Amino acid sequence: MRAASAIPEVSVACPLCGGRGPTFYVENGRRFERCPCGLVFQNPRPTDAWLQAARYEPYDRGAAHGREMRAIYEHAASVLPPGRLLDVGCGPGLFVRMMRSRGWDAEGIDLDRGEDFLRLDLEGPFDALTAIYVLEHVADPRRFVEKARRLLRPGGMLYVRVPHTAPIVRIGKLLAPRWNFFHTPWHLQDFPPRVLLGLLGGWTLRIDRTPTRRGAWARLPVPGRSYTVMATRPMYNAQPP
Ligand SMILES: [Zn+2]
Repeated sequence: MRAASAIPEVSVACPLCGGRGPTFYVENGRRFERCPCGLVFQNPRPTDAWLQAARYEPYDRGAAHGREMRAIYEHAASVLPPGRLLDVGCGPGLFVRMMRSRGWDAEGIDLDRGEDFLRLDLEGPFDALTAIYVLEHVADPRRFVEKARRLLRPGGMLYVRVPHTAPIVRIGKLLAPRWNFFHTPWHLQDFPPRVLLGLLGGWTLRIDRTPTRRGAWARLPVPGRSYTVMATRPMYNAQPP
């Protein structure tokens, strides 16, 4: 197991609003702070250079995870507009291959192959852009959304799925003390739904909170679980506020 002290760190303010807040939780030596805007963010966090160079360790490779991902991919395929699709954070490319087999002109990029969405010179327009369990890893989610907006055609869809473990981390630790709720050191932030919907202000938004896990988390009577936001790029050309 990697020692937290081995990771070069940088102190940050809230990546959405620049604010600061009290400590929310400490997991595996990584401190998470709750900004007055609602975002829970890791501070200090690993440096950009470390995040880009480190080999990402996926959350879970088990059968339950495979079932969850298949359920998410099927949901995405049922709502995404047809045409040209970019999957950001595509990993080994399972979703890209599935969507190609169903008629999409799909391509994928991944930081593990040195492909940083914010740095790549990508040529739009795309009809759809997917970021499935990606935004919690992005140091500047506002720039991510702005770039997605530029790459999508008007009316195109940004499909974002994020974990939301902040509401269950305390009770969860009692039930599963060894579970890494914020997937430290990898999750830089945890978005309450209202915060992510606010980040996508001006887009046409739908949210899906259907649980895809069949384990205990999905049955807990608390709001903390992953969710999906389907954001359609507005038809007008004004810059976002
Ligand atoms: Zn904030």
